[in-house]
Amino acid sequence: MFDTLSSRLDTVFKSLRGRGRLSDADIDATAREIRIALLEADVALPVVRSFVAAIKERARGIAVSQALNPAQQVIKIVNEELIGILGGDTKTLRLAKTPPTVILLAGLQGTGKTTLAGKLGVWLKKQGHSPLLVAADLQRPNAVNQLQVVGSRAGVEVFAPEPGNGVGDPVAVARDAIAHARRHVFDVVVVDTAGRLGVDEEMMRQAADIRDAVSPDEILFVLDAMVGQDAVNTATAFLDGVGFSGVVLTKLDGDARGGAALSVAHITGRPIMFASTGEALADFDVFHPERMASRILGMGDVLTLIEQAEQAFDQEEAEQMARKMAASEFTLEDFLNQMLAVRRLGPIGNLLGMLPGMGQMKDQIAQIDDRDVDRVVAIIRSMTPGERHDPGILQKSRKERIARGSGVTVTEVNQLLDRFGEARKMMRQLAGGAGLPGMMGRGK
Ligand code: GDP
Repeated sequence: MFDTLSSRLDTVFKSLRGRGRLSDADIDATAREIRIALLEADVALPVVRSFVAAIKERARGIAVSQALNPAQQVIKIVNEELIGILGGDTKTLRLAKTPPTVILLAGLQGTGKTTLAGKLGVWLKKQGHSPLLVAADLQRPNAVNQLQVVGSRAGVEVFAPEPGNGVGDPVAVARDAIAHARRHVFDVVVVDTAGRLGVDEEMMRQAADIRDAVSPDEILFVLDAMVGQDAVNTATAFLDGVGFSGVVLTKLDGDARGGAALSVAHITGRPIMFASTGEALADFDVFHPERMASRILGMGDVLTLIEQAEQAFDQEEAEQMARKMAASEFTLEDFLNQMLAVRRLGPIGNLLGMLPGMGQMKDQIAQIDDRDVDRVVAIIRSMTPGERHDPGILQKSRKERIARGSGVTVTEVNQLLDRFGEARKMMRQLAGGAGLPGMMGRGK
């Protein structure tokens, strides 16, 4: 799921890599690409519009930061906005003050409601609850039996109408189930309702009747993530017809574009609470917007990276550094501080591995040696403050002293000075762009 979206966004981010600063035209082009990527993934138009508008506005306001380059900042913004449309914080079930808590499942037929009842049962048991599943789908001939099968696989009791009573009244069944739960100390009741292949009034009325009879604490709208744009219409119809307090996405293991599912929280204003990722009872978990966003962005641990970077680099220091760069006052002392900040982030290999798209660059990453950074740090540390400020005064004897002090050869000292000289030249041209990658070089 979301593979196409992931790879499109990755292409967008790649094209930003290595940029010193983003012009308005760059931002517009990026926003356009993101828009196409979202539309191709079936994300609903109103969601795309507000998403892209937010990205544009925030990208224009990007401040010069030493911690993150423009590409990383755009990724950070896209990530945050994505988390936003997916509902923000992780939401959990509201439990009733006086048990039993009642959870009503609503949605079209075939979306995975019955399977979900079993999954919820297993999950609730793990949370220390004692759940009861209720077969209030009396429409589909085999539905009651199917829930009983699911229940026995899940090891959860199922409340069903007496055999022969199968064409009974689902409202009565649901009501009886609550009474049964009270008597037998089940503290959470999950009510499976009937679905149709399409939205229909009778089904809505039945679900609403059950709702009125059992006053659920949560109504979960179950949505098959594989359906396309229609998902948004179905969700809106259920919101009007029955109302719901949360969404469960099912079949997230499929390979469809899935963008409609991404739109549903934003469009309905209801959080996605759970996600189903397969037919087995274990393929189920609480939905975490931030994890889903970083999965879509295909960036493994980019969040961790960004957080670490923000912690390691002091913003004020970064701004001061940027001013210095712009004014060509960047010295070896500043370079040293940058290197130390990079080192605080941990091994360089790990660091790069966390960046999006870096998965394919494993070989190159493996060749980057933390000792290169440490060597640079050692060389600069062997210099006097005067030398760090003005490397121009470094004559042969001083270089020899530094080489001895840092345990390297004079050639290595010269290489560092050459790279620093080049980087400074480049910085002058970029006037303010973060020049770190260029400065690292790959020289030995
Ligand atoms: P209901 O009609 O809404 O009760 O849907 P069911 O629970 O009967 O599910 C319909 C079909 O979808 C069944 O074959 C399930 O095994 C399958 N299914 C349910 N959830 C998932 C899921 O997360 N992933 C996949 N791949 N299949 C699922």
